[in-house]
Amino acid sequence: NDVVLDVRDLTVEYIGPDGGTAACRDVTFQLGRGEVLGIAGESGSGKSTLITALTRLQRPPATTTAGSVVFHPADGTPGVDLVPLSPRRLRRLRWTSMSIVLQSAMDALNPVMRLGDQFADVLRTHVPGLGKEGARTRTAELLGMVGISADRARSFPHEMSGGMRQRATIALALACSPQLVVMDEPTTAVDVVMQRQILAQVLRLRRELGFAVIVVTHDLSLLLEVADRIAIMYAGRIVEIGTAEALYRDPAHPYTRGLRDSFPPLHAPLTTLRGIPGTPPDLRRLPTGCPFHPRCPVAVAECSDVLPALVSLPEQSAACLLVNQEATP
Ligand code: SF4
Ligand code: MG
Repeated sequence: NDVVLDVRDLTVEYIGPDGGTAACRDVTFQLGRGEVLGIAGESGSGKSTLITALTRLQRPPATTTAGSVVFHPADGTPGVDLVPLSPRRLRRLRWTSMSIVLQSAMDALNPVMRLGDQFADVLRTHVPGLGKEGARTRTAELLGMVGISADRARSFPHEMSGGMRQRATIALALACSPQLVVMDEPTTAVDVVMQRQILAQVLRLRRELGFAVIVVTHDLSLLLEVADRIAIMYAGRIVEIGTAEALYRDPAHPYTRGLRDSFPPLHAPLTTLRGIPGTPPDLRRLPTGCPFHPRCPVAVAECSDVLPALVSLPEQSAACLLVNQEATP
């Protein structure tokens, strides 16, 4: 099986006193083994909601109300739908099949524990029969992968530089050889710089170890550099998904074109787009028809009535009525 994650019709709602608000709706995509998928869109487009649902790290009021997230183990055993999984089975899967490197990566380390003990904890919980000596050997190997000498296992996080803590966090995420590493989007300027560093490390290790990566960011230019495929989200839906090459060279959705042409400032969160006037819609009061129509530079009358479905093109899929017309002979 060359697919590691199969996401179908995933819908996540924030359940409030007056019902649910969908922050992520009908999301469908497949992630290939070893593939790097970028997810981009403005703030509030549903990117973070999507990955917390994928990794099952979401907390109420966010609730997955429909769809499935099937993880396919590398050993060829049957896929597991993560949506209905018990917390206990999820915990087990979390380190061995997918790992998460959060934006505040350095905070993932326990400040009052020696580095080696943290690695041993994770390893001995998730790798049955590893033993104390085995854990020590594996820890040295993992630290070596990110250029940290084995004697650092005796250090506490505060005794290490920021860069070293960052690399240690990545090594820890890879401790149990996950097949998928998920990276969250940075929120502060410091995190933006850090995300590039962390991502560079993760991608270097991916070339050696072959795991897949999902990286979420508002920085489309970063994804155009590093991702194999990119999904663009707007108002909780994927509006375009395809190869990075196609989305850069020939984006099919007007929103993707706007994002690409915006060149957001590297050090600021993306709140307005130079290429696209206006702001993302309030998810509680979505426009009728295509949710992008109030901002779309090429909207036609029909756009305020009809919700476009994703239509397959040779190198991408896009949800825009104009694309649909071109694609239908
Ligand atoms: Fe623009 Fe209409 Fe396409 Fe929506 S469906 S992106 S409003 S042209
Ligand atoms: Mg977000």
